[in-house]
Formats: sequence, C-alpha cells, structure tokens
Amino acid sequence: MPYDYDPQNIFAKILRGEIPSQPVLETEHSIAFPDISPQAPTHVLVLPRGPYVCYDHFIAEASEAEILDFTRAVAEVCRMTGLCPGDGKDGYRVLFNSGLHSGQEVPHLHAHVVGGRPLGPLLA
Ligand code: C5P
Repeated sequence: MPYDYDPQNIFAKILRGEIPSQPVLETEHSIAFPDISPQAPTHVLVLPRGPYVCYDHFIAEASEAEILDFTRAVAEVCRMTGLCPGDGKDGYRVLFNSGLHSGQEVPHLHAHVVGGRPLGPLLA
C-alpha cells in the first residue's frame, strides 16, 4: 500500500524547526513534546523524526534503528513523566491514531502518552 506523506503537516514543520516546540526528549530518531491540548494531567506526544504517516507505515519502512529508538523514546517518556507502574505509580496509556476512523488529525505518526488520572474505558 502506498503511503502519501504530506511534508506540510504541522509536525513536519515542528521537526524542521519552522514552528517552535518545547521538547521534553530528543533522540537521534525521535522527539517528544507536550500536547498543545492535553486530555489528561500528563499528555505527551512522541514522534519518529522520519516521514511516516502512521504506525503500520513506520513498521513497514523505518530502519530497525529508528524503530528501536522510537520504542525506547516512548518508554523513556513514560519513565520521565513518573507514570510507570513499575515505579509504584498509577500507570499510563499509549495510543496511536491511524487514519480516518481513528480521528487522526495530524498525518505524521505520533504516540500519545497519557496519564495522571483514571483514564476510563479505551473507547469511551
Ligand atoms: O492523533 P491525532 O492526530 O488526532 O492527534 C493530534 C494531536 O496533536 C492532538 O492531540 C493535538 O492537540 C496535538 N497538536 C499539538 N500541537 C499542534 C497541533 C496539534 O500538540 N500544533
């Protein structure tokens, strides 16, 4: 399946530095910053730097180094924000919206890391 990446999407502009952001984590292949419209006390977006529309696109075309870096960046954000149940904290949710039915607004892959309150049923 062809993936049509729009280089003018807002996260692409943030990644190019055309729009300012306040990263909480930057790695070789990933970046994380707070969501502009947080849905929970902690709501951080984690993005691979590469031009991937959604999760399956990323897994199909990214290098193993990018996939490992991004996977670790998500976990690091969970740790940094103090949400990890392994640390005796109350846990978190990681969510990818992909495509129309999910309500994906920005067509550059991003993981939502949310926590800090009871999150309720997934599809509520
Ligand atoms: O998964 P989805 O594409 O719907 O999520 C996009 C997210 O990006 C929203 O939660 C929105 O608040 C966030 N956003 C942001 N900064 C922007 C534009 C959107 O954090 N400049």
